[in-house]
Amino acid sequence: MTFDATILTLYPDMFPGPLGLSLSGDALSRGVWSLEARNIRDHGLGRHKNVDDTPAGGGVGMVLRCDVLAAAIDASVPADDPRPKLLMSPRGKPLTQARVRELAAGPGIVIVCGRFEGVDERVIEGRGLEEVSIGDYVLSGGEMAAMVVLDACVRLLPGVMGKEASGQEESFETNRLEYPHYTRPREWEGRPIPDVLLGGNHATIEKWRRAESDRITRERRPDLLER
Ligand code: SAH
Repeated sequence: MTFDATILTLYPDMFPGPLGLSLSGDALSRGVWSLEARNIRDHGLGRHKNVDDTPAGGGVGMVLRCDVLAAAIDASVPADDPRPKLLMSPRGKPLTQARVRELAAGPGIVIVCGRFEGVDERVIEGRGLEEVSIGDYVLSGGEMAAMVVLDACVRLLPGVMGKEASGQEESFETNRLEYPHYTRPREWEGRPIPDVLLGGNHATIEKWRRAESDRITRERRPDLLER
């Protein structure tokens, strides 16, 4: 079973982009997942293939038309397609590792990338789009946000990461930030690797890591501990 991603964008050439390299790129060429980037402009109106118009009620910028976007969705996604349809949006529910896990366990995703001031509200309702944000800042378009969602999902697909286990112990899987990592050399610019990590006592190492993880989470993200 593969994980199939369909992206609706005004800039299909941005894909696969960075997703074509490294872990996700290897998995893409091995057929673990598939990626199809469709151009919204193919459904644009008139000789100039217009996709946007001025906001009703006035104001700056342009808004993606609902009829154009719906035509693009309908042409790429059959009505009985089981995949969740996401709209990248700063107004959306912030993406979490828990939602990423759910998405990665499913058949794939359809992602609509906004541009300009955003999209006409009616297509969000009419096509049941789930608005998802990747953080409290504003990007110029949804493409990079879509890549973030895809990268987070693809690395969880079976056989993508070297060790399956490496997905389990990481930040956010346990509502804890990860403990610090070290590797050779043993001492660097006067900074040694903590002795406990070199002692070979796995129980003590485990205890130290848990304590460090708690300390870092308390200092940086106390909100995680309350979840
Ligand atoms: N006027 C909008 C911002 C539009 S930014 C507002 O104030 O909310 C243009 C597009 O970039 C959006 O439609 C969305 O698809 C994408 N985008 C911008 N910031 C994002 C974020 N934090 N998460 C997900 N998508 C984002």
